[in-house]
Amino acid sequence: MPFLLSLDEGTTSARTALYDETGARIAMESNPFPCFYPKQGWVEQDPEEIWRAQLDSARRVLARSGVPPEQITAIGITNQRETTVVWDRRTGKLVSPAIVWQCRRTSDFCTELASSREASDVTRKTGLVIDAYFSGSKVKWILDNVPGARERASAGDLLFGNIDTWLIWKLTGGAVHATDPSNASRTMLMNLESGDWDADLLRLFDIPASMMPRIVPSSAVVGTAKAEHLGAEIPIAGIAGDQQAALFGQACFRPGLSKNTYGTGCFALLHTGATRPVSANRLLATRAASHDASAQFAVEGSVFVAGAAVQWLRDQLGVIRTAAESAEIAASVSSSAGVYFVPAFTGLGAPYWDMSARGTITGLTRGSGSAHIVRAALESIAYQTRDLVEAMEADSGERLRELRVDGGATANDFLMQFQADILGCKIVRPADIETTALGAAYLAGLAVGVWKSTDEVERFWRAERVFEPVIGDTERDSLYAGWKQAVAQCRA
Ligand code: ADP
Repeated sequence: MPFLLSLDEGTTSARTALYDETGARIAMESNPFPCFYPKQGWVEQDPEEIWRAQLDSARRVLARSGVPPEQITAIGITNQRETTVVWDRRTGKLVSPAIVWQCRRTSDFCTELASSREASDVTRKTGLVIDAYFSGSKVKWILDNVPGARERASAGDLLFGNIDTWLIWKLTGGAVHATDPSNASRTMLMNLESGDWDADLLRLFDIPASMMPRIVPSSAVVGTAKAEHLGAEIPIAGIAGDQQAALFGQACFRPGLSKNTYGTGCFALLHTGATRPVSANRLLATRAASHDASAQFAVEGSVFVAGAAVQWLRDQLGVIRTAAESAEIAASVSSSAGVYFVPAFTGLGAPYWDMSARGTITGLTRGSGSAHIVRAALESIAYQTRDLVEAMEADSGERLRELRVDGGATANDFLMQFQADILGCKIVRPADIETTALGAAYLAGLAVGVWKSTDEVERFWRAERVFEPVIGDTERDSLYAGWKQAVAQCRA
C-alpha cells in the first residue's frame, strides 16, 4: 500500500502528516520553533532550527505509524511563503538568519519603490502590491547589509530560497536547488504570466540570477531525499506555498472555486483557471498549484489579524480563558449592540493596504460589556472576509455561491454561522481541516501515479457541516454598513 508524507512547514511550527491512498490522514506530528524580534518590526527565524524541527517531526510520524520508509511513495512539501533564506552553495552555511514574511525592515525601500517610475511595471509583471511582505526586498537587504554578501553573490557563491527550497536542498544533500511557481510568485521576482524569473526585476532588486532556484512544476518529481534522513531514498514530488496548498487540499481545482483559511490571519483564494487575474480592487494575482505543467492562477486577499484578535482577547484583555470559549460568550448576547472592533493591530491588509491604521473599538455605550466586545471581535473576522469577497466579486463580476473554509478558527460555530449570514452564501466546513498538508500530499501523489487525476482526488473531499444564511438582506446590509463606517473611523 502506498503512503505519502507531507511536510507542512508553518510560521510557528513544523508539522509532518502521513496519508494513505484513500487520502486519509493516519499520523501527524509537530514541533514548534521560535521567532526572534531583534528590533521593532523585525522578525527572524533560524533555518537550521526549522530543518531540525521538520526532520524530527517526519521521523516521529514514521516511528509512531510503524510505516516503513520504503513504503513512502513520495514526499510533498508546503511552507510559509515569502520567508527568505540565503546560504553558501558549497558549505551550506547560512549568510544570515531567515527574514520572515512579517518582517517590516524593508518598508522604507518598498515605499520608495512604490512611488518610483518602475512601480507600475513591477505590479503588472508580478501581480503583487509593492510591500515588504514579499521576498525580493528581503534578499536585497541581505546582500546590501551582510558584510561580503554582495561580493560572494556576484561570484556565484550564494543561493536564495524560500523555506520549500531550503528543505529540498537539505533533503537532497545539496543536489537540488528548486522551487515551484506558487512560491516563486510571492518573491516579486517572477513574471506571473511566463513563470520565469524576470531579468528586469532581478536588476531592479540588484539580485544575481545565479542565486535563484530553478522553477519546477508543483506536481513533479524534483529530486530524492537521501536515505540518511528518513531511512530510505524517497522522491520529492510536490511543492506549494501554504495557501495554494490549502486551495488544492480543498479540491478547488477549477475557476470559481474558493477557500478561506481562518488562522492567525485570513487568506482567501479564488481559483481563476488558466486566466491571469488583474485586480482592480487591490487583491493579489498569484499562481495556484497545478496538477500538471500548465499555468493556473488565483486571486488572493490577505487579512493580517483574524484569529489573532481572539488571542488578544485572551492574552491582553483577559476577557476569555480559551479561544473556544469566545463562541459561547458571543452567543450570550443577541447582538453586538452597535459595537464594532477593527483589529488593525499591524495596519490593514487587503483591500485597504493601510499600514498606518491601528486597532479601534467603536459604538461603545454605558450598556456595552465584555460579551459585546468578544462578539465584535469574532464578527470582525467575518466582516474582513466580506471585504475580501466583495473585492473578488467586483473583480470577477460573479457572485460567490459557496466558500470552503479551513484553519483553527473554523472550529467556532458562532463565527461560521455569522460568516454565512454576513456573506449571504453557504459556508462549507470539510471533514479534514488540515487542508494545507493534504494539498501537498495530493500534489505528490498525483505526480507519482498514486492517483491518476484530480477527479479521483476530488472524491475524497467531504463536507462535515454546511452553514446556511438565516438573516435577510436588509439586516445583512445594515450590519455591514456599520462595519464600513467603523473601518472609516479606524483609518481616520
Ligand atoms: P496558524 O496556522 O496561523 O498558526 P491555526 O489555523 O492553527 O493558525 O489557528 C490558530 C488561530 O485560530 C489562533 O489565532 C486562535 O486564536 C484561533 N482560534 C483557534 N480556535 C478558535 C476558536 N474556537 N474560536 C476562535 N478562534 C480560534
